[in-house]
Order: sequence, then structure tokens, then C-alpha cells
Amino acid sequence: MLKVGLVSLGCAKNLVDSENILGLLKHDGYTITNTIEDSDIIIVNTCGFIDSSKKESINTIFEMLSYNKKVVVTGCLAERYEEELRKEIPEAYFIPIHDYDKFNKFFKSVDNKLNDEGGLDDHYRVISTGKYSAYLKIGEGCDNCCTYCAIPLIRGHFVSRPYDEIIEEANKLADSGIKEVIVLEQDTTKYGIDLKDGHNTVSLLKGLLGVKKLEYIRLLYLYPDEISDELIDLIAKEKRLTPYFDIPIQHSEDHILKDMNRRGNKEFLRNLFNKIKTKVPNAILRTTVMVGFPGETEEDVDNLINFIKEIGFDHLGAFTYSREEGTKSYNFKNQIDENTKKARLDRLMRAQQGVSYKRNKTHIGEIMEGLVVGKEKEQYLLRSYWNAPDDVDGKIYFTSKEELNEGDIVKVKINEAFVYDLLGEEVK
Ligand code: SF4
Repeated sequence: MLKVGLVSLGCAKNLVDSENILGLLKHDGYTITNTIEDSDIIIVNTCGFIDSSKKESINTIFEMLSYNKKVVVTGCLAERYEEELRKEIPEAYFIPIHDYDKFNKFFKSVDNKLNDEGGLDDHYRVISTGKYSAYLKIGEGCDNCCTYCAIPLIRGHFVSRPYDEIIEEANKLADSGIKEVIVLEQDTTKYGIDLKDGHNTVSLLKGLLGVKKLEYIRLLYLYPDEISDELIDLIAKEKRLTPYFDIPIQHSEDHILKDMNRRGNKEFLRNLFNKIKTKVPNAILRTTVMVGFPGETEEDVDNLINFIKEIGFDHLGAFTYSREEGTKSYNFKNQIDENTKKARLDRLMRAQQGVSYKRNKTHIGEIMEGLVVGKEKEQYLLRSYWNAPDDVDGKIYFTSKEELNEGDIVKVKINEAFVYDLLGEEVK
């Protein structure tokens, strides 16, 4: 059978799709390889929601084509620009997201020896995030229709995965040794809104708490006005629910939030974060913001910077507004030039460096429990309640007198803080 390699671009939700694609092809009998040279077929699972990610996807497709291998393009770029891409890059094969349920039928055009018509199925999923940690996707799509966002155009309406299916997968992951699951969807707080069985994010978490082998359950992508007191109280009460609140706010200024079609104004956001801090004193706050949205002024950016300083986010991801065709804001007046956007992003990130360092220093002397997730520069890496496994958050480096293994659960005393990272030593 042929050897298949895969390049996964974009977000963790796309990574789960990559894991399901690899799982299906392995189930079909292909050999999965990590080296391009060794591959007969290369899959590029693309991202397509903003300019920079689209450019990265296109560059990666051409890079893979330069190896004279069969290249299959999947993911959000293939979904969003299928027609254009088939015309522009006829030498590649395309399997857009809406064909994932009959993936093999289309993969036959790549390898006609494949005698199956099946589609992606999480039962075959190959976990790519280590032996002890895995993402757990709980739905697809989004209905919030933020005016700058192309995701609803690509991933469609919000659809929850059936409750039993998620719990079954969580059990399967836990039985395979996974100790940490990161629960995600475009809008994790919307879970169950389309289901008739009354389930919601809170009942799903209670179900996941029933999977006793799972040590840590973390949520990503919470929508501000959907975060209930019940959810906050459950996270405050349950030790296995990580006190980690990833709440993308996008901006702080009311007129910008309104033009973005974001629900909840500045006062609402302020009250929400203060409520979380009160109910969950050790809460880690993460957010995502955007600068350069049409109509944004320098004063708006000043106010946004003052707001992130006021709230004190432990982790913050930021990007510049990308004018995306098909989104409402594409035709908004007062579009801002790229240099101004870039300058605003730099200003904001410089301010966040100060906030992050100040927050990190509050952890000095603290003993954190967590998973050993690897080694770097002769130091071990810890994943505690403080950091999620993606490139937004900092790292916890620590030393130990013993030889440790990935997946070990240890206690680490934090001795030093840096702008983004922490440093400590293992303690008993
Ligand atoms: S909530 Fe997120 S995914 Fe949904 S439309 Fe808004 S930015 Fe896009």
C-alpha cells in the first residue's frame, strides 16, 4: 500500500480533522509517514479564514507539489475556494469539507486501488498530540455571524455532536491512556442548543467528569454572553475541570463590538471577568483581540490597551483585521491600511508583554500540579491549569532530580517568571 504524509495547518479543530483523515487512511491500509520524501501521497489540510493563513496554505501546497508527489488539498481553503483552486492548481487533488463523509470515494481519484467509499469516522482517529493529551471536538460550524468572520461561510451552521458519541470517544481516549482532553468548537458554550435531548455545555462537562480516568478537562473558545453562572460554579467546584477561561472578546469598544456584531458591551465584559475572578480566584484568563477593524481609531486602540491592562489577561492572542470577501464588514467604509494595522498590533502586543509579565510574577512560589508533556533545552515541560497546548500560551520549564516520562503527573514549584514563560523545579 502507498505511504501517506499530512501537513496540518490552521486551528486545533482542523487538527482533529487531520487526525480523522489519517485514521481513515490507516484503516484503509495506507502507511502513515512523517517524512515528505518517504510519502507517495501528501495531504495538505488547509486553513482559509484570513489572508495570512490563506497565503500559508497556498505556499504549502506549492511547496509539496515541488516534491513531485501526489498532493491532496483538504480543509477550509479547499472548502471556501474549491472552484478557483481546481482551475488554478489542476495538478493537485481537492477534497473539500462537505465531501468528508465520502472521503474515500474521492480519494479513489488519487489512488484507484482503494476499494472503499467510506467517510471520516472518529473511531479510526490517530491522535497526533502525544500519548496523554487530546482535543475533543464537540460540534461544527457557527451561527454567531461576526461581521469579519468567514468561518460560518466555510464550516456552516452550528451543529452539536451527539452527546453519547462525545462521551464514547472520551472513554475511548481515556482507555488509551489520554489524561487530558481539551474540549473545543468554534463556540463551545453553544453546545446542545440544536439538540432535542436538553444537553448543554454544563451537562456535557458533567458527563465528561464521569470518565474517571480523565485527570484534566479544559475548555477553549467560550463566547462571553453564553457563559452561565452554572458553568462558572461547576468549574470552581470541580478540580478536574481546569480553571482556565478562554474567552475571545475581539475588542473592548462598544461601537466596534456593535459593528462586529458581537453580543455584550464593554461593561458586560468587565462584569463577566470580575465575576469569574471572584468565583474562581485562581482562574487563568485568556482572550483573542483584533485591531484594525474598519472605523477603529487610535483612541479605540488606547482604550483597548487600557482594558486588557485593567482585566489582566494571563494569555492573549491578537491579529489584524483581514478584509474577507463574503463577510459583512468587507463592504464597510473606513477600511484601515495594512501599515496602520501592523503598528496597532505591535503597540498592543508590547502592552500585553507588560501585563503577561506582571501576571506571571504572581505565580512565583506557587506549587503547580500537571502533566509532563516533553523536554526542551534539557528541561522538562509541564502542562498545568495555567497553559493550554497551543502556541498562544507560554511554557513551564522545570528541572527534576529524577528521570521523568511524558504523561507523568508531577508537582512543580515556580521559582522564576518571564514575559511569557515560567521556570520551576519538581517538588514532592
Ligand atoms: S464566534 Fe468565532 S467562529 Fe463564530 S462567527 Fe464569531 S469569530 Fe467566527
